Amino acid sequence: MQSMIPDYLDQVLHDVASNTSGELADYIPELAVAEPERSGAVFATVDGRVYGAGDIDTEFTIQSISKPFAYALALDDSGFDTVLAKVGVEPSGEAFNEISLERGTGRPRNPMINAGAITTHALVGAGLLPPDERVDRVVRGLSAFAGRPLTVDAAVCASEMDNAHRNLAIAHMLRSYGILDEDPRAVVDGYVKQCSVLVTARDLAMMAATLANRGINPLTGDRVVADSVVRQVLSVMATCGMYDAAGDWATQVGIPAKSGVAGGLIGALPGQIGIATFSPRLDSHGNSVRGVALFERFSSDMGLHVMEVPAAARAVVSSNHVREAGTGALRVIQLQGGIRFAGAERIVREVVDDTPVESRVVLDLTRVSSIDDVARRMLLEIARRLTLDGSEVYLVDPEAMVPDPDPGDGGRITVVDDLEQVASRPHGTLGTLGSDGRPPTET
Ligand code: GLN
Repeated sequence: MQSMIPDYLDQVLHDVASNTSGELADYIPELAVAEPERSGAVFATVDGRVYGAGDIDTEFTIQSISKPFAYALALDDSGFDTVLAKVGVEPSGEAFNEISLERGTGRPRNPMINAGAITTHALVGAGLLPPDERVDRVVRGLSAFAGRPLTVDAAVCASEMDNAHRNLAIAHMLRSYGILDEDPRAVVDGYVKQCSVLVTARDLAMMAATLANRGINPLTGDRVVADSVVRQVLSVMATCGMYDAAGDWATQVGIPAKSGVAGGLIGALPGQIGIATFSPRLDSHGNSVRGVALFERFSSDMGLHVMEVPAAARAVVSSNHVREAGTGALRVIQLQGGIRFAGAERIVREVVDDTPVESRVVLDLTRVSSIDDVARRMLLEIARRLTLDGSEVYLVDPEAMVPDPDPGDGGRITVVDDLEQVASRPHGTLGTLGSDGRPPTET
Protein backbone atom coordinates (compact mmCIF):
# COMPACT_ATOMS: atom_id res chain seq x y z
CA MET A 1 0.00 0.00 0.00
CA GLN A 2 1.13 3.56 -0.61
CA SER A 3 0.73 6.23 2.04
CA MET A 4 -2.21 8.58 1.48
CA ILE A 5 -0.35 11.53 2.97
CA PRO A 6 1.64 12.63 -0.14
CA ASP A 7 -1.54 12.20 -2.22
CA TYR A 8 -3.38 14.44 0.20
CA LEU A 9 -0.61 17.08 0.06
CA ASP A 10 -0.68 16.95 -3.77
CA GLN A 11 -4.41 17.43 -3.77
CA VAL A 12 -4.37 20.42 -1.41
CA LEU A 13 -1.52 22.06 -3.37
CA HIS A 14 -3.56 21.57 -6.52
CA ASP A 15 -6.61 23.13 -4.85
CA VAL A 16 -4.78 26.33 -3.89
CA ALA A 17 -2.95 26.65 -7.24
CA SER A 18 -5.76 28.74 -8.74
CA ASN A 19 -5.14 31.39 -6.11
CA THR A 20 -2.78 33.84 -7.78
CA SER A 21 -3.49 36.79 -5.53
CA GLY A 22 -0.84 38.60 -3.54
CA GLU A 23 2.45 40.18 -4.52
CA LEU A 24 6.08 39.16 -4.41
CA ALA A 25 8.19 40.99 -1.85
CA ASP A 26 9.92 43.70 -3.88
CA TYR A 27 11.88 45.73 -1.39
CA ILE A 28 15.03 44.16 -2.85
CA PRO A 29 15.51 42.97 -6.45
CA GLU A 30 16.53 39.42 -5.43
CA LEU A 31 13.13 38.71 -3.88
CA ALA A 32 11.20 40.40 -6.69
CA VAL A 33 12.54 37.87 -9.21
CA ALA A 34 11.30 34.79 -7.31
CA GLU A 35 9.20 32.43 -9.43
CA PRO A 36 5.67 33.23 -8.22
CA GLU A 37 4.12 29.90 -9.20
CA ARG A 38 6.42 27.75 -7.12
CA SER A 39 4.74 26.06 -4.21
CA GLY A 40 5.42 23.17 -1.91
CA ALA A 41 4.22 21.61 1.31
CA VAL A 42 5.98 19.31 3.75
CA PHE A 43 5.03 17.42 6.90
CA ALA A 44 7.85 16.14 9.10
CA THR A 45 6.93 13.83 11.95
CA VAL A 46 8.62 13.96 15.34
CA ASP A 47 10.30 10.66 14.52
CA GLY A 48 11.85 12.08 11.35
CA ARG A 49 9.54 10.91 8.55
CA VAL A 50 9.14 13.50 5.78
CA TYR A 51 6.12 13.74 3.47
CA GLY A 52 6.10 16.36 0.76
CA ALA A 53 4.54 17.59 -2.46
CA GLY A 54 5.57 20.25 -4.96
CA ASP A 55 8.73 22.36 -4.69
CA ILE A 56 10.11 21.03 -1.45
CA ASP A 57 13.81 21.18 -2.35
CA THR A 58 13.86 24.67 -3.86
CA GLU A 59 16.09 27.00 -1.87
CA PHE A 60 14.91 30.41 -0.71
CA THR A 61 15.92 32.72 2.13
CA ILE A 62 14.53 31.99 5.55
CA GLN A 63 13.85 35.67 6.37
CA SER A 64 11.63 36.16 9.42
CA ILE A 65 11.23 32.42 9.98
CA SER A 66 14.72 32.68 11.48
CA LYS A 67 13.27 34.80 14.31
CA PRO A 68 11.80 32.07 16.54
CA PHE A 69 14.93 29.96 16.13
CA ALA A 70 17.30 32.83 16.92
CA TYR A 71 15.05 33.59 19.93
CA ALA A 72 15.48 29.97 21.02
CA LEU A 73 19.27 30.25 20.71
CA ALA A 74 19.30 33.56 22.63
CA LEU A 75 17.22 32.05 25.47
CA ASP A 76 19.49 29.03 25.58
CA ASP A 77 22.68 31.11 25.51
CA SER A 78 21.72 34.16 27.62
CA GLY A 79 18.98 32.74 29.88
CA PHE A 80 15.36 33.83 30.29
CA ASP A 81 15.95 36.76 32.65
CA THR A 82 18.43 38.52 30.39
CA VAL A 83 16.35 38.02 27.26
CA LEU A 84 13.05 39.01 28.88
CA ALA A 85 14.62 42.15 30.32
CA LYS A 86 15.31 43.30 26.76
CA VAL A 87 12.48 41.84 24.68
CA GLY A 88 8.84 41.45 25.77
CA VAL A 89 6.32 38.75 24.87
CA GLU A 90 3.24 40.87 24.16
CA PRO A 91 1.62 40.63 20.73
CA SER A 92 1.99 44.04 19.14
CA GLY A 93 -0.80 43.72 16.61
CA GLU A 94 1.44 45.75 14.35
CA ALA A 95 3.29 45.14 11.10
CA PHE A 96 6.59 43.27 11.30
CA ASN A 97 8.71 46.32 10.58
CA GLU A 98 6.79 48.83 12.69
CA ILE A 99 9.07 51.23 14.52
CA SER A 100 7.42 50.80 17.91
CA LEU A 101 8.92 50.15 21.30
CA GLU A 102 7.25 49.72 24.68
CA ARG A 103 6.54 53.04 26.32
CA GLY A 104 8.86 53.77 29.23
CA THR A 105 11.24 50.83 28.91
CA GLY A 106 12.00 51.09 25.20
CA ARG A 107 11.77 47.29 25.05
CA PRO A 108 10.59 45.81 21.76
CA ARG A 109 7.21 44.21 22.40
CA ASN A 110 8.10 40.73 21.16
CA PRO A 111 10.86 38.85 19.33
CA MET A 112 8.84 38.28 16.15
CA ILE A 113 8.72 41.91 15.03
CA ASN A 114 11.96 43.30 13.61
CA ALA A 115 12.78 45.45 16.65
CA GLY A 116 12.60 42.38 18.87
CA ALA A 117 14.41 40.16 16.39
CA ILE A 118 17.31 42.60 15.99
CA THR A 119 17.67 42.74 19.79
CA THR A 120 17.37 38.97 20.04
CA HIS A 121 20.11 38.49 17.47
CA ALA A 122 22.47 40.47 19.73
CA LEU A 123 21.67 38.12 22.64
CA VAL A 124 22.79 34.96 20.86
CA GLY A 125 26.09 33.76 22.31
CA ALA A 126 25.30 35.46 25.65
CA GLY A 127 26.28 38.86 24.24
CA LEU A 128 29.92 37.87 24.52
CA LEU A 129 30.74 37.07 20.91
CA PRO A 130 32.15 39.43 18.31
CA PRO A 131 29.61 40.03 15.49
CA ASP A 132 31.13 37.51 13.05
CA GLU A 133 31.29 34.73 15.58
CA ARG A 134 27.73 35.49 16.60
CA VAL A 135 26.57 35.09 13.00
CA ASP A 136 28.47 31.84 12.94
CA ARG A 137 26.69 30.67 16.08
CA VAL A 138 23.32 31.65 14.56
CA VAL A 139 24.00 29.82 11.29
CA ARG A 140 25.23 26.74 13.14
CA GLY A 141 22.20 26.88 15.44
CA LEU A 142 19.76 27.13 12.53
CA SER A 143 21.63 24.24 10.90
CA ALA A 144 21.23 22.14 14.03
CA PHE A 145 17.48 22.78 13.91
CA ALA A 146 17.42 21.76 10.23
CA GLY A 147 19.72 18.77 10.64
CA ARG A 148 22.08 19.82 7.85
CA PRO A 149 24.64 22.59 7.30
CA LEU A 150 22.96 25.76 6.00
CA THR A 151 24.61 28.69 4.23
CA VAL A 152 24.00 32.41 3.76
CA ASP A 153 22.91 33.78 0.35
CA ALA A 154 25.53 36.49 -0.15
CA ALA A 155 23.61 38.33 -2.89
CA VAL A 156 20.38 38.62 -0.91
CA CYS A 157 22.37 39.65 2.12
CA ALA A 158 24.29 42.42 0.32
CA SER A 159 21.12 43.71 -1.27
CA GLU A 160 19.22 43.69 2.06
CA MET A 161 22.07 45.59 3.67
CA ASP A 162 21.99 48.22 0.90
CA ASN A 163 18.30 48.72 1.61
CA ALA A 164 18.29 48.27 5.38
CA HIS A 165 17.35 51.86 6.20
CA ARG A 166 14.34 50.95 8.26
CA ASN A 167 16.08 48.18 10.20
CA LEU A 168 19.00 50.55 10.79
CA ALA A 169 16.58 53.18 12.06
CA ILE A 170 15.06 50.61 14.43
CA ALA A 171 18.51 49.54 15.64
CA HIS A 172 19.59 53.14 16.27
CA MET A 173 16.43 53.68 18.31
CA LEU A 174 17.20 50.53 20.29
CA ARG A 175 20.71 51.84 20.88
CA SER A 176 19.40 55.18 22.11
CA TYR A 177 17.18 53.40 24.66
CA GLY A 178 20.11 51.26 25.82
CA ILE A 179 18.42 48.06 24.64
CA LEU A 180 21.35 47.54 22.29
CA ASP A 181 24.71 48.45 23.68
CA GLU A 182 26.88 47.95 20.65
CA ASP A 183 27.24 49.33 17.14
CA PRO A 184 23.72 49.23 15.61
CA ARG A 185 25.09 48.68 12.12
CA ALA A 186 27.00 45.55 13.14
CA VAL A 187 23.89 44.09 14.77
CA VAL A 188 21.71 44.80 11.71
CA ASP A 189 24.41 43.28 9.52
CA GLY A 190 24.27 40.10 11.63
CA TYR A 191 20.46 40.08 11.65
CA VAL A 192 20.38 40.47 7.85
CA LYS A 193 22.79 37.55 7.46
CA GLN A 194 20.50 35.54 9.73
CA CYS A 195 17.53 36.39 7.46
CA SER A 196 19.55 35.45 4.35
CA VAL A 197 20.17 31.84 5.34
CA LEU A 198 19.07 29.55 2.52
CA VAL A 199 16.55 26.83 3.31
CA THR A 200 14.11 24.53 1.55
CA ALA A 201 10.59 23.67 2.65
CA ARG A 202 12.01 20.32 3.72
CA ASP A 203 14.54 22.07 5.99
CA LEU A 204 11.86 24.30 7.46
CA ALA A 205 9.59 21.34 8.21
CA MET A 206 12.46 19.64 10.03
CA MET A 207 13.20 22.83 11.98
CA ALA A 208 9.54 23.00 12.99
CA ALA A 209 9.57 19.28 13.82
CA THR A 210 12.51 19.92 16.17
CA LEU A 211 10.29 22.35 18.08
CA ALA A 212 7.39 19.88 17.94
CA ASN A 213 9.80 17.26 19.33
CA ARG A 214 10.75 19.36 22.41
CA GLY A 215 14.01 20.63 20.97
CA ILE A 216 15.48 17.33 19.78
CA ASN A 217 16.13 17.14 16.03
CA PRO A 218 14.24 14.07 14.79
CA LEU A 219 16.89 13.28 12.15
CA THR A 220 20.13 13.73 14.05
CA GLY A 221 18.82 13.00 17.55
CA ASP A 222 20.73 16.08 18.78
CA ARG A 223 19.20 18.23 21.49
CA VAL A 224 19.32 21.74 20.02
CA VAL A 225 17.71 23.72 22.87
CA ALA A 226 16.15 22.94 26.26
CA ASP A 227 12.50 21.89 26.72
CA SER A 228 11.68 25.08 28.60
CA VAL A 229 13.02 27.16 25.70
CA VAL A 230 10.77 25.32 23.25
CA ARG A 231 7.69 26.06 25.34
CA GLN A 232 8.58 29.75 25.40
CA VAL A 233 9.22 29.86 21.64
CA LEU A 234 6.01 28.03 20.73
CA SER A 235 4.01 30.34 22.99
CA VAL A 236 5.45 33.41 21.33
CA MET A 237 4.88 31.92 17.87
CA ALA A 238 1.25 31.22 18.82
CA THR A 239 0.63 34.79 19.97
CA CYS A 240 2.94 36.88 17.76
CA GLY A 241 4.12 34.71 14.86
CA MET A 242 1.73 36.11 12.26
CA TYR A 243 2.14 39.81 13.18
CA ASP A 244 -1.05 41.80 12.80
CA ALA A 245 -2.86 38.69 11.51
CA ALA A 246 -2.12 36.75 14.73
CA GLY A 247 -5.71 36.75 16.04
CA ASP A 248 -7.23 35.49 12.78
CA TRP A 249 -4.54 32.88 12.59
CA ALA A 250 -5.02 31.75 16.19
CA THR A 251 -8.73 31.23 15.73
CA GLN A 252 -8.80 29.86 12.18
CA VAL A 253 -5.62 27.78 12.05
CA GLY A 254 -4.54 27.42 15.65
CA ILE A 255 -1.00 26.19 15.04
CA PRO A 256 2.05 28.05 16.45
CA ALA A 257 3.54 29.49 13.27
CA LYS A 258 5.98 31.88 11.63
CA SER A 259 6.08 33.40 8.19
CA GLY A 260 8.87 34.94 6.10
CA VAL A 261 8.82 37.43 3.21
CA ALA A 262 10.49 35.01 0.80
CA GLY A 263 7.31 32.89 0.96
CA GLY A 264 8.09 30.33 3.63
CA LEU A 265 5.66 29.51 6.43
CA ILE A 266 6.11 27.04 9.27
CA GLY A 267 3.86 25.55 11.89
CA ALA A 268 4.83 23.34 14.82
CA LEU A 269 2.26 21.05 16.35
CA PRO A 270 3.58 19.99 19.76
CA GLY A 271 4.25 16.28 19.96
CA GLN A 272 2.97 15.64 16.44
CA ILE A 273 4.52 17.26 13.38
CA GLY A 274 6.39 20.17 11.87
CA ILE A 275 4.75 21.68 8.80
CA ALA A 276 6.28 23.96 6.18
CA THR A 277 4.93 25.54 3.04
CA PHE A 278 6.58 27.62 0.35
CA SER A 279 4.85 29.98 -2.07
CA PRO A 280 6.28 33.45 -2.68
CA ARG A 281 3.24 35.68 -3.24
CA LEU A 282 2.38 37.60 -0.05
CA ASP A 283 -0.72 39.18 1.43
CA SER A 284 -0.82 42.67 2.93
CA HIS A 285 0.61 41.38 6.24
CA GLY A 286 3.63 39.88 4.48
CA ASN A 287 2.39 36.30 4.90
CA SER A 288 2.35 33.85 1.98
CA VAL A 289 -1.15 33.81 0.42
CA ARG A 290 -1.10 30.16 -0.59
CA GLY A 291 0.75 29.25 2.58
CA VAL A 292 -2.07 30.67 4.69
CA ALA A 293 -4.64 28.89 2.51
CA LEU A 294 -2.72 25.60 2.84
CA PHE A 295 -2.52 25.88 6.61
CA GLU A 296 -6.24 26.66 6.82
CA ARG A 297 -6.91 23.48 4.89
CA PHE A 298 -4.50 21.37 6.96
CA SER A 299 -6.02 22.60 10.18
CA SER A 300 -9.64 22.03 9.23
CA ASP A 301 -9.15 18.80 7.25
CA MET A 302 -7.13 17.13 9.96
CA GLY A 303 -8.25 18.75 13.21
CA LEU A 304 -4.79 20.21 13.87
CA HIS A 305 -5.96 23.27 15.82
CA VAL A 306 -4.11 23.12 19.15
CA MET A 307 -7.25 24.20 21.01
CA GLU A 308 -9.24 21.32 19.54
CA VAL A 309 -10.37 19.59 22.72
CA PRO A 310 -9.37 15.92 22.50
CA ALA A 311 -11.85 13.18 23.32
CA ALA A 312 -11.43 12.13 26.94
CA ALA A 313 -8.49 9.75 27.10
CA ARG A 314 -9.11 6.05 27.59
CA ALA A 315 -9.60 5.31 31.26
CA VAL A 316 -6.19 5.15 32.92
CA VAL A 317 -7.45 2.60 35.46
CA SER A 318 -8.01 -0.49 33.33
CA SER A 319 -8.90 -2.66 36.33
CA ASN A 320 -9.01 -2.56 40.11
CA HIS A 321 -9.40 -6.01 41.59
CA VAL A 322 -8.45 -8.25 44.47
CA ARG A 323 -6.20 -11.17 43.69
CA GLU A 324 -6.11 -14.15 46.05
CA ALA A 325 -2.50 -15.21 45.81
CA GLY A 326 -2.28 -18.06 48.30
CA THR A 327 0.22 -15.79 50.03
CA GLY A 328 -2.62 -13.46 51.03
CA ALA A 329 -4.85 -11.08 49.14
CA LEU A 330 -3.43 -8.39 46.90
CA ARG A 331 -5.22 -5.30 45.70
CA VAL A 332 -4.11 -4.82 42.09
CA ILE A 333 -4.73 -1.50 40.37
CA GLN A 334 -3.82 -1.85 36.74
CA LEU A 335 -3.06 1.36 34.82
CA GLN A 336 -2.76 2.02 31.12
CA GLY A 337 -2.00 4.64 28.46
CA GLY A 338 -0.50 8.08 28.97
CA ILE A 339 -0.96 9.57 32.43
CA ARG A 340 -1.01 13.31 33.09
CA PHE A 341 -2.72 15.34 35.81
CA ALA A 342 -6.30 14.38 34.98
CA GLY A 343 -5.38 10.70 34.69
CA ALA A 344 -3.53 10.78 38.00
CA GLU A 345 -6.58 12.39 39.60
CA ARG A 346 -8.64 9.38 38.43
CA ILE A 347 -6.18 7.05 40.17
CA VAL A 348 -6.30 9.09 43.37
CA ARG A 349 -10.09 8.97 43.26
CA GLU A 350 -10.03 5.22 42.70
CA VAL A 351 -7.96 4.72 45.85
CA VAL A 352 -9.88 7.26 47.93
CA ASP A 353 -13.36 6.05 46.97
CA ASP A 354 -12.55 2.37 47.36
CA THR A 355 -9.89 2.26 50.07
CA PRO A 356 -8.05 -1.04 49.83
CA VAL A 357 -8.58 -3.24 52.89
CA GLU A 358 -5.91 -5.66 51.68
CA SER A 359 -2.51 -5.17 53.29
CA ARG A 360 -0.70 -5.27 49.95
CA VAL A 361 -1.51 -2.80 47.19
CA VAL A 362 0.00 -3.11 43.72
CA LEU A 363 0.10 -0.28 41.21
CA ASP A 364 0.77 -2.00 37.90
CA LEU A 365 2.38 0.26 35.26
CA THR A 366 3.09 -2.51 32.75
CA ARG A 367 0.70 -1.05 30.20
CA VAL A 368 1.43 2.62 30.84
CA SER A 369 2.96 4.34 27.81
CA SER A 370 3.98 7.64 29.40
CA ILE A 371 3.66 9.42 32.70
CA ASP A 372 4.49 13.06 33.20
CA ASP A 373 6.12 14.68 36.19
CA VAL A 374 2.99 15.73 38.08
CA ALA A 375 1.40 12.30 37.59
CA ARG A 376 4.58 10.63 38.83
CA ARG A 377 4.60 12.76 41.96
CA MET A 378 0.92 12.04 42.58
CA LEU A 379 1.48 8.27 42.26
CA LEU A 380 4.31 8.43 44.80
CA GLU A 381 2.11 10.47 47.13
CA ILE A 382 -0.59 7.79 46.84
CA ALA A 383 2.08 5.27 47.84
CA ARG A 384 3.20 7.41 50.77
CA ARG A 385 -0.30 7.89 52.13
CA LEU A 386 -1.11 4.19 51.73
CA THR A 387 2.09 3.29 53.63
CA LEU A 388 1.11 5.61 56.47
CA ASP A 389 -2.30 3.89 56.52
CA GLY A 390 -0.51 0.56 57.05
CA SER A 391 -0.35 -0.90 53.53
CA GLU A 392 2.64 -2.33 51.76
CA VAL A 393 2.83 -0.72 48.33
CA TYR A 394 4.33 -2.29 45.20
CA LEU A 395 4.98 -0.73 41.84
CA VAL A 396 5.12 -3.07 38.86
CA ASP A 397 7.36 -1.00 36.61
CA PRO A 398 9.41 -3.10 34.17
CA GLU A 399 10.27 -0.09 31.98
CA ALA A 400 11.28 2.20 34.85
CA MET A 401 8.53 4.73 34.06
CA VAL A 402 9.12 6.08 37.58
CA PRO A 403 12.90 6.31 37.62
CA ASP A 404 13.36 7.52 41.19
CA PRO A 405 10.56 5.91 43.18
CA ASP A 406 11.03 7.60 46.53
CA PRO A 407 7.73 8.59 48.14
CA GLY A 408 9.63 10.40 50.94
CA ASP A 409 8.39 11.25 54.44
CA GLY A 410 7.43 7.87 55.85
CA GLY A 411 6.38 6.38 52.52
CA ARG A 412 7.76 3.13 51.20
CA ILE A 413 7.42 1.52 47.81
CA THR A 414 8.86 -1.69 46.41
CA VAL A 415 9.47 -1.83 42.69
CA VAL A 416 9.16 -5.12 40.85
CA ASP A 417 9.30 -6.09 37.19
CA ASP A 418 6.40 -8.46 37.28
CA LEU A 419 3.18 -8.86 39.27
CA GLU A 420 4.05 -12.54 39.87
CA GLN A 421 7.02 -11.45 41.96
CA VAL A 422 4.57 -10.00 44.45
CA ALA A 423 1.98 -12.77 44.17
CA SER A 424 4.44 -15.57 44.83
CA ARG A 425 5.83 -14.13 48.04
CA PRO A 426 4.01 -13.88 51.33
CA HIS A 427 3.40 -10.50 52.88
CA GLY A 428 6.54 -8.79 54.14
CA THR A 429 9.12 -11.08 52.53
CA LEU A 430 9.87 -9.39 49.26
CA GLY A 431 12.66 -7.32 50.70
CA THR A 432 13.03 -3.64 50.96
CA LEU A 433 13.89 -1.02 48.44
CA GLY A 434 17.56 -1.13 47.39
CA SER A 435 19.64 2.01 47.37
CA ASP A 436 18.98 2.33 43.62
CA GLY A 437 15.26 2.40 44.34
CA ARG A 438 14.82 -1.07 42.86
CA PRO A 439 14.35 -4.30 44.80
CA PRO A 440 17.06 -6.91 45.25
CA THR A 441 17.27 -9.04 42.12
CA GLU A 442 15.48 -12.35 42.11
CA THR A 443 17.53 -15.53 42.17
N1 GLN B 1 14.71 40.57 6.20
C1 GLN B 1 13.36 41.02 6.37
C2 GLN B 1 13.33 42.29 7.20
O1 GLN B 1 13.91 42.33 8.25
C3 GLN B 1 12.53 39.94 6.99
C4 GLN B 1 11.11 40.33 7.15
C5 GLN B 1 10.15 39.18 7.10
O2 GLN B 1 10.43 38.09 6.64
N2 GLN B 1 8.93 39.46 7.49
O3 GLN B 1 12.75 43.27 6.81
